[in-house]
Amino acid sequence: MSKSSEGEKQQKAFGWAATDESGTLSPFHFSRRENGDEDVTIKILYCGVCHSDLHSLTNEWGFTSYPVVPGHEIVGVATKVGKNVTKFKAGDRVGVGVMVGSCKTCECCQQDLENYCSQIIFTYNSHNPDGTKNYGGYSDMIVVDQRYVLRFPDNLPLDAGAPLLCAGITVYSPMKYYGMTEAGKHLGVAGLGGLGHVAVKIAKAFGLKVTVISSSPQKESEAINRLGADSFLASSDPAKMKSAIGSMDCIIDTVSAVHPLFPLLSLLKVNGKLVTLGLPNKPLELPVFPLVSGRKLVGGSDFGGMKETQEMLDFCAKHNIAADIELIRIDEINTAMERLARSDVRFRFVIDVANSLSQ
Ligand code: NAP
Ligand code: ZN
Repeated sequence: MSKSSEGEKQQKAFGWAATDESGTLSPFHFSRRENGDEDVTIKILYCGVCHSDLHSLTNEWGFTSYPVVPGHEIVGVATKVGKNVTKFKAGDRVGVGVMVGSCKTCECCQQDLENYCSQIIFTYNSHNPDGTKNYGGYSDMIVVDQRYVLRFPDNLPLDAGAPLLCAGITVYSPMKYYGMTEAGKHLGVAGLGGLGHVAVKIAKAFGLKVTVISSSPQKESEAINRLGADSFLASSDPAKMKSAIGSMDCIIDTVSAVHPLFPLLSLLKVNGKLVTLGLPNKPLELPVFPLVSGRKLVGGSDFGGMKETQEMLDFCAKHNIAADIELIRIDEINTAMERLARSDVRFRFVIDVANSLSQ
């Protein structure tokens, strides 16, 4: 029996939802569970706009359950904590990322890799074991089990720090896992959007040499002068692409659409690694010749566990890393989504939830 049908108390919530594959967002009233013993209730202040929100809104992946309230780069203030909550108190600055639950007992959960738990509960477009539905951060408040709540460091800006909760951890985790934290190694970052621009900043903080590979030649000066990349390759410029063949230890591929892998694999050194993070709705074609001839690897990575996400936030706070954002009102979200689809954002939209979401 679901909690709601047991007549349990609910908290009123308000946000913006899409109700069909047009993906158009509009005001939506719903409810969240009452704060349980392990829960933290959070007043949402800011929420980043990830390309996964856009894929979900328009059902590009084929598993969207409407209505959907997107948003998994959530920053806010704790307003209530349950009696077993030890990590947080009311008034604390907190964050919530891509997940709000997992089984807590499997091998992945025990190794702080909750993000790979087979029973993971995503922040939105998901259901809880009791059948209730989860809604994301384009809304005024959220209730989350303390295990999946992050301490948001004091010196991180609440608005520009919000994108770290997905974009930040999604690029930090593979740099650590695939051995790209050693100063002097050469990292390619394919796609200079929300994930890509944070990848450049984090990679520079690790002391890596960073080359951006982009389909937008007009992003060159921002990549180098504003974000600190060492060099820039326009993927449409064959001469420049040729000059960089065999030069990179690893490439983090954040491209959101189907794209050819051959040029990227060619940029890798022998033993180089291509890490795919982007989630286009159709399979990518894998050319084996450049893989085999250079003993290269293609891998993937899915955001990160809670412990590593906290580590990443603390790392970014220490190195003064936040996203470059365009702060928008909630009623600008549909236009922002159109621009995001055209890669026309520098470099992450963040919704000023507390100051613009009114009923
Ligand atoms: P974003 O801000 O839209 O950035 C994606 C970038 O990809 C664009 O800025 C653009 O960069 C490039 N691009 C887009 N369309 C392209 C095309 N047709 N051909 C070549 N390049 C193209 O998106 P994001 O929020 O960073 O997310 C990127 C992808 O990662 C999405 O698919 C998202 O769902 C996925 N994601 C995965 C995880 C994970 O855990 N693995 C987490 C978050 C997001 P240039 O203009 O520089 O070419
Ligand atoms: Zn995301």
